[in-house]
Amino acid sequence: MIAWLKRVFPWLGNIVEAVATVGAGMWVTLRTWIKTYRPDRKTFTEHFEYPELPVPVAARYRGFHRFDLTTCIACDQCAKACPVDCIYIGKERAQGSKGFKITGYAIDYSKCMFCALCVEPCPVDCIFMGASHDLSCYSRDGCIVDFARLPLDVAWGRATINPTAVAQSKVIVEPVHGGPNQ
Ligand code: SF4
Ligand code: SF4
Repeated sequence: MIAWLKRVFPWLGNIVEAVATVGAGMWVTLRTWIKTYRPDRKTFTEHFEYPELPVPVAARYRGFHRFDLTTCIACDQCAKACPVDCIYIGKERAQGSKGFKITGYAIDYSKCMFCALCVEPCPVDCIFMGASHDLSCYSRDGCIVDFARLPLDVAWGRATINPTAVAQSKVIVEPVHGGPNQ
């Protein structure tokens, strides 16, 4: 209708189109405004109360890593793939075997950009992106997480990495497990 009008009477067609466009925009505004008076409407913070009731994350969300120290073979593939060089792997020759023993596996989360490029090349599938997104701390040192010093269930857990566990890991001298070649 508007197209026909614009073809026959361009000036009238333009006026009708402008009024219809403004009306459509105002209708969206009006609908949203009316919704604010619904009695069952809740604010965002009434739906989600962090940390007891966190906002659910998408299934393929890329949060803090999950790392399984017990299967890592210290091949360095993940560190080489990292575009910002924020994975630091410590290792030493395992006695009586050709493999390596992990002595540290630290990720600097002040540099990590959660691209997941470190996950793809791992030959033994021991590093994944997890679902955790909360690791607040008061110092930059708190952003460096050494997974080799976290309890295994925290390092590999889906959503259990937390500031308390990371703070406790800072005072642990030895890795919690020496890897498969221990
Ligand atoms: S997610 Fe990306 S930036 Fe972070 S450690 Fe892995 S490769 Fe590096
Ligand atoms: S996490 Fe995977 S890719 Fe990285 S050092 Fe361990 S085995 Fe190699």
